[in-house]
Amino acid sequence: KSRIVTIDGPAGSGKSTVSRELARRLGWSFLDTGAMYRALAYAAAEEGQDLGDEKGVAEIAGRQNFEFTPSSEGIKVFLDRRDISKEIRSPEVTASVSRIASSVVLRRLLVEMQRDFAQKAGDMVTEGRDQGSVVFPDADVKFYLDAGVKIRAQRRAAELEASGQRVDIQDVMKAIEKRDLADKSREAAPLVCPEDAIVIDSSNISAEQVTERMLSAVKE
Ligand code: C5P
Repeated sequence: KSRIVTIDGPAGSGKSTVSRELARRLGWSFLDTGAMYRALAYAAAEEGQDLGDEKGVAEIAGRQNFEFTPSSEGIKVFLDRRDISKEIRSPEVTASVSRIASSVVLRRLLVEMQRDFAQKAGDMVTEGRDQGSVVFPDADVKFYLDAGVKIRAQRRAAELEASGQRVDIQDVMKAIEKRDLADKSREAAPLVCPEDAIVIDSSNISAEQVTERMLSAVKE
């Protein structure tokens, strides 16, 4: 039986960096479920689809071909063979993705895709908001990664700057707070800390230290 490690937590807690590194060190597959929500938001917007129209968005999810491939810089996302990895991180997509994340119908579709991915992936590290709570409740090890909002905003800003985007730290912080609220208060699969998760606060420790802690918990 394949093993599954889940990492959930709010925006900017370091999930992406740490999950990728953990997967790499374990030699396991890696799934960034936020990239799936983003890819769908991007594809829908590109077609001029109203994101509030679940049926219309679901139709796009069924028709379009999405591919998620891990790479050293993070997950690469392809929409019909077109690399949209950078586009899905734009502020516009980031701001609109919660419309999709709050839809029960669309979540069901994406959860199905995530479980399909797991079937083929073998041992896997997966990250998101609901991986330990909803999608893989029987995961072998669950983590909940958190950090203070200021620190998360600083990290997100640094990431965006590294990818060539200009940012204002106050704007990034406001956007993060707004997204936290939306993710935690929505009715469909809100962001929660699973009861049986190991909680790690990354405010004062490096990504390397978080990865080390996770590695030792997984190897126990
Ligand atoms: O992790 P990332 O910032 O890329 O996620 C983008 C958005 O996708 C989140 O703010 C959240 O609304 C949604 N999401 C979700 N469930 C997941 C992963 C992401 O609702 N498992």
